[in-house]
Amino acid sequence: MDIEPRLTLRWADHGACANSDPDLFFPLTWDGRPAPHTALARRICMSCPVRVPCLTWAVETGEPEGMWGGTTPDERRRMRSRRLKKTG
Ligand code: SF4
Repeated sequence: MDIEPRLTLRWADHGACANSDPDLFFPLTWDGRPAPHTALARRICMSCPVRVPCLTWAVETGEPEGMWGGTTPDERRRMRSRRLKKTG
């Protein structure tokens, strides 16, 4: 698999989060419960023109931090787990 390095993500320049507060997407803690910052970041992601490549990248690389493609770290871990079960 050819995964694009994080520092050269070409699609990231087109993200709806480009001019947003990074603390919305990378809060210091994720407690697993809906929080105002989580809901706002997710809303921004859902309107983002590069949500699909963003989410694909985060899931494929196992990105452990932040909101990517409208998902939290726990949500991506569950997605990866389901994907691994399907592929055996
Ligand atoms: S999907 Fe979300 S985190 Fe990814 S580039 Fe778009 S706004 Fe940023």
